[in-house]
Amino acid sequence: MNPLKVVIVGYGMAGARLAELVRERDPEGERVELTVVGAESRPAYNRVLLSGVLDGTMTADDIALHGRQWARDNQVRLLLGATAVRLDRVARVIHLADGSSVGYDVLVLATGSRPWLPPVGGLADERGAPARGVATLRGLDDCARIAALTGPGVPVAVLGGGVLGVETALALARRGAGVTLVHPAPHLMERHLDPTAGMILAGLCRAAGVRVVTGLAAVRHYPDEGVKLEDGAFVPAALTVVTAGVRPETDLAVAAGLGSAEGVPVDDRLRTTDPRVHALGDCARVGDAPSGLLRPAWEQAAVLADLLTGADRTARYRPSPAVTRLRAGNIDLTAFGAAHLGLDSREAEVLSYADPARGTYAKVALDGDQVAGAIVLGLPDAGAALTQLYDTGRPAPTDRPALLLGRALPRAVEDDPAHLPDSTVICRCNSVTKADLTRAARVTGGGVTALVRATRASTGCGDCLPRVRRLAGPHDTTGTQT
Ligand SMILES: Cc1cc2nc3c(=O)[nH]c(=O)nc-3n(C[C@H](O)[C@H](O)[C@H](O)COP(=O)(O)OP(=O)(O)OC[C@H]3O[C@@H](n4cnc5c(N)ncnc54)[C@H](O)[C@@H]3O)c2cc1C
Repeated sequence: MNPLKVVIVGYGMAGARLAELVRERDPEGERVELTVVGAESRPAYNRVLLSGVLDGTMTADDIALHGRQWARDNQVRLLLGATAVRLDRVARVIHLADGSSVGYDVLVLATGSRPWLPPVGGLADERGAPARGVATLRGLDDCARIAALTGPGVPVAVLGGGVLGVETALALARRGAGVTLVHPAPHLMERHLDPTAGMILAGLCRAAGVRVVTGLAAVRHYPDEGVKLEDGAFVPAALTVVTAGVRPETDLAVAAGLGSAEGVPVDDRLRTTDPRVHALGDCARVGDAPSGLLRPAWEQAAVLADLLTGADRTARYRPSPAVTRLRAGNIDLTAFGAAHLGLDSREAEVLSYADPARGTYAKVALDGDQVAGAIVLGLPDAGAALTQLYDTGRPAPTDRPALLLGRALPRAVEDDPAHLPDSTVICRCNSVTKADLTRAARVTGGGVTALVRATRASTGCGDCLPRVRRLAGPHDTTGTQT
C-alpha cells in the first residue's frame, strides 16, 4: 500500500513536534510520506525560550529544536522559507508563494498565531506590519531586530503587561535598556492575577529596573520619539515593543472556508469540517479550551501522530488544565484555575497571604477539599505544591497556613520528588509524569540525558529540569533545556 501523503503547513513548535512523533512511530516512512512547509528560513526552535535570547543569556543555537540535518536524517521533505498561500481542498493541493504546489492526502494546519497590533495611531504601517521604531516578539528574527535597536541606556516602551509583556520588559531591562512597561488595565496580568498580586508584581518589576505605568492606554506612537498616553503624558522611546496579545494565524484556513479569525475549529481527533484537513497548536480551537500555549500544542501533536500513523486509532485529544507560569530573573509566578480571574466563586473558600515588602503573595481558592485555583508569587514551593494538588485532584491538607506557604506536601518537589505520587506531572509542557520518568529510568538505566531523550521532559520551558535531575539518579549531571 502507498504511504499516506501528509503535508504539515507550519514548522513551528506544533508542526515540528508532529513531524518528530510521526517519524518516531513510522521511522522508515512506510505508512506516512511527510512534507513540512515552513515560512521561516530556519529549522524549528523553542519559542518559549525567546526571552533568554532577548536578554543575551541564550543563543539561537541554544533554542534550536532541530538541526539542519534533521529532515534529511528522518526522511522528511522540508521546505524552508516557503509560505503556503492557497489551499485548494477540491484538488487537494497547497499552493506556495513561489508558485509551486504540493499535493496531499491529509493536510495539517500548524500555522500558529501572530502578534496583534492594537489600533493605536502610528504603530502599524500601511500593510499592517509594525511601523518604523515598532517591534513585536514572536520569532528569532524579531529578537534580532529588537537587539539591533536596543542596548544599554536606550529608552524602550513595552506596550502590554500580560505574561509576554512582563517577560519582555524584564529581559530588555537585563540588557540594560531603560524600559517603561505600559499597561491599560488597572494592574499587570489582569487575566491571571488579582489586584494585590498585580501590584506586588509591579513592585518586583520596578525593583528590576522597569518603570511600570498601569491604567493608561497608549494613544499614539511617534517614530524615534516615543509613545503618547491617554492622559497626555509622553513615554520617550527609541523602540516600542508591542506585546498586546496574539491572534490565531488562520488566513489560509479562512480563505478555504475552514475557520474564522478566532481559530480553526477541530474535534477531538483534530479534524476540521473537512476530514482530510487537520489543525493543531495555536491556530486550532478545540471547544472553548485555552489555546496559545505549548502544552496543548504538544499533546495534540501526540494524538494526531497516533491517528495519522495508525499507531493508535482510538487516540483522542482531551484538554489538560492550563497553568500560567512566569519565570523572569528572580520572579517566580504561578497562576491557575478559579483564582485566575481574581473572581472568587461563591462556594469557594479563599485563603490569602501577602507580604508586599518581600514580594510574596499566595491566594488559594478551595472547593471543598480540592484546590480550585491559586495565584502564587515569590513562593516557588507553594506554587509547585499547589500545582501538584490541582493536577492530581488530591485533597488539600487541613493545615491551611502550610498550604499557602508551600509546606503542604511532605517536601518541596524541587528537593525531593521521590515523595510524590506516581501520577504527579513533573514536566507540564510535555505532560510527563513521575511514573513516566521512573519507568524511563528503569529502561534506560537512568541519567538525565537518557531520561530527557526517552520522555522529552524539560525540553519545553525547562522549568522542571531540577526535578528531572533528582529523579534521574546519580548517573550524570548534564541535561538539556532544549
Ligand atoms: C516569547 C514567547 C514566549 C512564550 N512563552 C510561553 C510559555 O512560557 N508557555 C507556553 O505554554 N507558551 C508560551 N508561548 C506560546 C508558545 O510558543 C506557542 O503556544 C507555541 O509556539 C505554539 O506552537 P505552534 O506551532 O502552534 O505555533 P508557532 O510556534 O508560532 O509556529 C507556527 C509556524 O507556522 C509558520 N507559518 C504560519 N503561516 C504559514 C504559512 N502560510 N505557510 C508556512 N508556514 C506558516 C510560522 O512562520 C511559524 O513558524 C510563548 C510564545 C512566545 C512568542
